[in-house]
Amino acid sequence: MEKVIIDLCYEYDKNTLKELFNNAFKIIGFKPHTSKILLKPNLLNSKSPDKAVTTHPVFIQAIAEVLRDFSCHVYIGDSPGYESLQKVLKNTGIIKIIEEIGLKTVSFNKRVMKKYEGISPYKRFVLGEDPLNYDLIINMPKLKTHTMMGMTLGVKNTFGFIHSLDKARWHLRAGQDRLLFASILIDIHRIVNPSLTILDGILGMDGDGPSNGRVRNFGIVAISQNAFHLDEAIERFIGIDTSLPITTLARKNGFIKSYEVIGRSTGYIKDFMMPETMATDWNLPVPIKGILKRAFIKKPKILKALCKQCNVCVNACPAGALSPSPHSKPVFDYKKCIRCYCCQEMCPEGAIKV
Ligand code: SF4
Ligand code: SF4
Repeated sequence: MEKVIIDLCYEYDKNTLKELFNNAFKIIGFKPHTSKILLKPNLLNSKSPDKAVTTHPVFIQAIAEVLRDFSCHVYIGDSPGYESLQKVLKNTGIIKIIEEIGLKTVSFNKRVMKKYEGISPYKRFVLGEDPLNYDLIINMPKLKTHTMMGMTLGVKNTFGFIHSLDKARWHLRAGQDRLLFASILIDIHRIVNPSLTILDGILGMDGDGPSNGRVRNFGIVAISQNAFHLDEAIERFIGIDTSLPITTLARKNGFIKSYEVIGRSTGYIKDFMMPETMATDWNLPVPIKGILKRAFIKKPKILKALCKQCNVCVNACPAGALSPSPHSKPVFDYKKCIRCYCCQEMCPEGAIKV
């Protein structure tokens, strides 16, 4: 039976984490000897690690050193939201680890076409890097909420294989249909097919994540060879509704089977705040939901006092619903807005609220 290991660990202590990872490898029988391995952390933006947006550098250092002890060749890559990979690696401090350990960085800026018959209506996906270039992929998500999907855990983290410009296109295709977007995320995850998912939930985020929510010291590290199982186990562990779109579709399509939770199978994080947007996902046909959503579901709004007029939100909006304004904050066209909240996710100043 597949396993999900959930450990409690409240600090980023490298040696503690190395011991934890080595023990986990033994328990699940993971033997990465001499493999060419790609680490795929969450590198959404260049905020400092204490903001809990990105996988913590010490977390990455610990796994990289463990893999080095197995004589692996280790690469690290992602496609950040709107900044260059180099800037994100520098500002998060990960670049020092890369230099110290000798990791190779990979920018996900290729165009690798994958034909795939999955559960979404789409059959072609363009990835920024070919997962088949590596023997193993280790998926390293952060434990965070997400204004559109509720949570961003293991399955959602592999969306980073899509180049940032193409991410906006997928958002536009899915529009306001969370289940459709979940089906796309699941197909991409199954194409990437990571061998291991290691969740950094030591520092995480609740509220209006994934970049401007509330930082929490959850003290959780979770490890599994199956991210569908890991995601469901974590949703149960933190005591939230496990009918979020990805988990719901994964269960319906048979991607979640029986699995064993090792370590802390039950737990309760006090006062865990889901994004407010999740309270209004009515179970209605998409066209009707669209009309109601435009009328009632929270609109993104810009807090003028915080806005630096950088126009990152304008460029991130897949629907063209934001326009720059020469001497003021960008302006919304709510008739075009599909409520994907990419603008809120990408705003570096936390100036967009929903
Ligand atoms: S709302 Fe945020 S992303 Fe948009 S222009 Fe202002 S600071 Fe930049
Ligand atoms: S304005 Fe924001 S929420 Fe609306 S479509 Fe654009 S990015 Fe999505």
